[in-house]
Amino acid sequence: MVESHVPTPTAGDFVRDLVQRDQEQGTFGERVQTRFPPEPNGYLHIGHAKAITVDFGTAEAFDGLCNLRLDDTNPDTEEAEFVDSILEDIEWLGFTPPRPVRHASDYFEQLYAWAEHLITEGFAYVDEQDAETISAQRGGYGKPGVESPYRDRPVKESLDVFRRMRAGEFPDGAKVLRAKIDMQHENMQLRDPVMYRIRRGHHYRTGDAWCIYPTYDWAHGQSDAIEGVTHSLCTLEFQSNRPLYDWYLEHLPLPGDQPRQIEFARLELTHTITSKRKLKQLIAEGVVDGWDDPRMPTLRGLRRRGYPAKAIREFLTSIGVAKTNSRHSIELLESFIRRDLNLTAQRRMAVLRPLKVVITNWPTDETGQPVVEHFEVANNPENADDGTRQVAFSGELWIEQEDFAEVPPPKYFRLSPGREVRLRGAYFVTATDVVKDADGTVTEVHVTYDPETKGGTAPDGRKVKSTMHWVSAPHAEDATVALYERLFTAENPGEATGDPLDDLDRNSREVLTGAKVERALADTAPGEVVQFERLGYFAHDPREPMLFHRTVGLRDEWAAIQKRTAR
Ligand code: ATP
Ligand code: MG
Repeated sequence: MVESHVPTPTAGDFVRDLVQRDQEQGTFGERVQTRFPPEPNGYLHIGHAKAITVDFGTAEAFDGLCNLRLDDTNPDTEEAEFVDSILEDIEWLGFTPPRPVRHASDYFEQLYAWAEHLITEGFAYVDEQDAETISAQRGGYGKPGVESPYRDRPVKESLDVFRRMRAGEFPDGAKVLRAKIDMQHENMQLRDPVMYRIRRGHHYRTGDAWCIYPTYDWAHGQSDAIEGVTHSLCTLEFQSNRPLYDWYLEHLPLPGDQPRQIEFARLELTHTITSKRKLKQLIAEGVVDGWDDPRMPTLRGLRRRGYPAKAIREFLTSIGVAKTNSRHSIELLESFIRRDLNLTAQRRMAVLRPLKVVITNWPTDETGQPVVEHFEVANNPENADDGTRQVAFSGELWIEQEDFAEVPPPKYFRLSPGREVRLRGAYFVTATDVVKDADGTVTEVHVTYDPETKGGTAPDGRKVKSTMHWVSAPHAEDATVALYERLFTAENPGEATGDPLDDLDRNSREVLTGAKVERALADTAPGEVVQFERLGYFAHDPREPMLFHRTVGLRDEWAAIQKRTAR
């Protein structure tokens, strides 16, 4: 293992405790092997990132192995596009799946052979009833199951029909293979579950080689066993499937040990959904632009938004691994992002909603041109290694519209007529006059500057109550800045009505096309995150130059929440 990504969780990790005990007791010959088994029917999201850090992180912590296995048993919804993106996203997150990447479809032949084995042993049969009948006969809690009339057909007959199913003799849906377990079992999963269906879907890997496909439940545990997985880590909703997986494994001639399944809590975040189906719906309805829209909880979305992979990993580690479901505050994740970016992001000045400022006593040079000065500014006060840069200053500047008030409200200390403020790192200026358009909107503020205050301090020690960012107008670059609100207004989307989409904020994005930014921002690398002074962290779009997405604001909302709840 190269660099370890797996610091000890601060909130406890019962999975690691269980694996540790297995190791101490010599179960599995001290081997630890896990896997991450996504279905390639969509892009990975923050919930998957949790599973990835648990699966890969646990293996890494015990010097074990973690495969990436694509659980591709459903030909209708799976695509090669998703396979590539899944691998890319896992590597972006900081984990390297061993090659070759595994696929459940690699095991179709073995799974088929094992199905024949179960039939031969009298543990499976072909049912020729339709899906509705089978479903109705299943019963329910407190409602007895009904045995299929095909349940006790001779082994030879089932075997023959099953082989003809594979050979393509029957239409889609005509017959299924079912495990013969117990139609009165209190766990519905064990009431003779379906193992194979006839479906002539074109599979993205096996093409048209198969017209019968294993169910996820029939493929999952066996795939683990084939790979030699020792600890089959999954989320809580699979708890009731465990007895079924164990039943299958106990009835098969496995090549090695039977994997041990351990279920942990899903990651849920406030104001966020992680259902792939619902995420697809957001795209289909045009609520967001695509899987990598910066408001999406997908790894692609978070990455485009500027979330560093390392900060995501640290967040996931800090919350630990629990046995009961809970919802974590999105503000906690954001605080990890902010903390990371505070150390790494370079500082720049950008004006999102510009208002022109003219310094009326600004000097001209001997040719009559306005003087241009350059101030040396630290790129990152948190990291001296990041050096300094020159920022141009002149007699015409841009400031934020909200940093000027013609009639200042109470406690407003920014620029207003007669008020002196500091332009960060440059000079003190005092507003003297305004220019308005026909509607009475202020279009320009006239100020005078004090040449004695160069660098932003007054030699006579006088103070100002406000420091503002600015951009020299003749030196400014144009930029587009996208601001984001939370995609869902409710902490728990869908809690009230059952449909998360009812809690959508359909105006969660505001695009400002007229931003004025300092020239250095034109050199920002695609995907790089910088801090716009006083405004927050912004990620340069990976494809569109001079488009910036707000990553997070500067205020630590998590600290504020902590303080409120402590009170
Ligand atoms: P969906 O039901 O929305 O399609 P899924 O959970 O079925 O999502 P898979 O591709 O099957 O998606 O998931 C791969 C792995 O990621 C599974 O082991 C699953 O348990 C885990 N996983 C998915 N969502 C979360 C989550 N929110 N928190 C933790 N693990 C998750
Ligand atoms: Mg799934």
